[in-house]
Amino acid sequence: MLSTNIFYSGYNVLFSIMSLFIGISSVFLIRGSKDFRGLFLFQLGGLLMILLTYLTTQDHLLYKIGLNDNFVIFVLTLLSGLISILWINSATELYNHRLANREALTIYTTLTATLCVYYSFIGYNSGQTFLLRPMFLLISITMLFLSSLVCLIRRVNIGHFLLSLSLFLLLGKLTVSTFFYQYNWLNLNIFNWIWTYIFAVAVIFMRFDMYRSDLKQSWNTIDKLNLQIINMIDTSPFPIVIVDAKTCKFLTINNKAALLFGFTRKDAIYHLLEEIMVDEQNRCKFLANLQQRGSLDDYDVMVCNVLSVTPFWMSASAKSMQHNGIDAFYITFQDIALRKERENNLQNQAHKDPLTLTWNRLYFEKFVPEKIKECIHYAQNFSLLLVDADKFKKINDKYGHKVGDLVLIEIAGLCRNSLRDDDIVARFGGEEFVIFLNDTDLRSATRVAERLRQNIESAAIKDDEDNIIKVTVSIGVVSSEKANSLEVLLRQVDDAMYLAKHNGRNQVAVYDEQQVKSYQSKKSKSAKRNIHPVFQNEESEEISLLDNYGSQHF
Ligand code: GH3
Ligand code: MG
Ligand code: MG
Repeated sequence: MLSTNIFYSGYNVLFSIMSLFIGISSVFLIRGSKDFRGLFLFQLGGLLMILLTYLTTQDHLLYKIGLNDNFVIFVLTLLSGLISILWINSATELYNHRLANREALTIYTTLTATLCVYYSFIGYNSGQTFLLRPMFLLISITMLFLSSLVCLIRRVNIGHFLLSLSLFLLLGKLTVSTFFYQYNWLNLNIFNWIWTYIFAVAVIFMRFDMYRSDLKQSWNTIDKLNLQIINMIDTSPFPIVIVDAKTCKFLTINNKAALLFGFTRKDAIYHLLEEIMVDEQNRCKFLANLQQRGSLDDYDVMVCNVLSVTPFWMSASAKSMQHNGIDAFYITFQDIALRKERENNLQNQAHKDPLTLTWNRLYFEKFVPEKIKECIHYAQNFSLLLVDADKFKKINDKYGHKVGDLVLIEIAGLCRNSLRDDDIVARFGGEEFVIFLNDTDLRSATRVAERLRQNIESAAIKDDEDNIIKVTVSIGVVSSEKANSLEVLLRQVDDAMYLAKHNGRNQVAVYDEQQVKSYQSKKSKSAKRNIHPVFQNEESEEISLLDNYGSQHF
């Protein structure tokens, strides 16, 4: 008989070993996969099927060890039932990813066991037992065929197709060996090998299919998450934009951002970040920080609506991210107008002189060095003026401190009105104001100082009692053409102002080293006589507030 020829030739031995190897490898391949249980049950069913094929012949081991027909038929029917159960279970798992209906399986198992006991031992009849195996076979094939068909229609996949093919090959072999075992010309062992190979290929395809479906599922999840993110962005109460990290073009913006920045969401892709972050320095700093750190929290940015040019401050939080495969920045904005106003107020409190509302000395010493750096960077000149009220003590003495204060306020106002917006006026001491003139050389600074002196001289300040108070100032001038350091320039401008006082007050004096030296030598001589050099010209002079000091005009 053919089955006794399993080890008939060297080829058979070789193919059997190869089949075994392929079978084990395919089990190894499917380990850990979702379909492992289903495929493993299928392969187990297949192996039992091969055993069944072997046992259908008349000269197998069970007969050789002396067991009778009854027992052999019992084993055969039991095997057929077991194979059917394994395969039904496997098919359900493979196609539906869940176990077969337990109740149906229990009924089927009980029926198989009852029938196999009945036909083998109780109702023994060679005619009936001969029909028993084909009957089980028919039931199994029908059930498997139906489940495979349903699943194939639902989920066509080459792996499943190959699996079904290998199943039918095995069943084919069983059928052929059961009914036609008397025909020697059928070398049926070839079915064992073909079944194993097809099974292995089926496993590989199913594995690929599993990867593909996993990938598809991942993409679906990503799509869903993307949709969720877009919905969250859209419904956020804060303006949110996503910009291309390289080109700074908008990729998407939400409704709040569209409203804030003045373009529609549809048109956003035609706009650039620089159109809303107008301050170049602020924008470049923001982007450089973001690129360096990957994320930023509460960064103050100056933004504007493209339809109106007035910029305003907002707080931006941003993060680097991937948007549809593009390196992008996700930026949210928060209105900080109130906070900025509070900060400005606080800064004003710290940096403004409460009486004259000009900047104070602290502000001047903090910010002028930055202005100086800027001027040096752009190769611009700058100048300093020191304005000191003449004989101010006398005003206080004559009209009282309150009026003195009023005069100081007027002087500060005149200073501010005589200058440009980017010049800085600061109250440096009691009745002393220092002025930083941006992008101004010595000639222009002297002209500005003279104009200011004249404006103050010609101003008629009225007090509550309608008294007209006249005041004059002495102004020192110095420019960056001589020195760059604020400390040196302040010393020089102070010397220049004292020169103006020394020369008779109500005048402008430019810093001159020679004159300062000669004045200082007089000062030291006077010091020996205990007289301040400024007063040495007026030792016995009675000074009237309305006196003209004989100004020296430029
Ligand atoms: P000169 O500068 O021409 O030499 O004479 P001066 O009288 O202006 O000079 P001095 O520095 O001796 O006096 C400055 C005066 O300014 C003294 C002080 O009473 C007055 N003063 C300083 N701060 C204030 C202020 O806030 N309000 C008022 N009313 N007076 C002030
Ligand atoms: Mg003074
Ligand atoms: Mg003075």
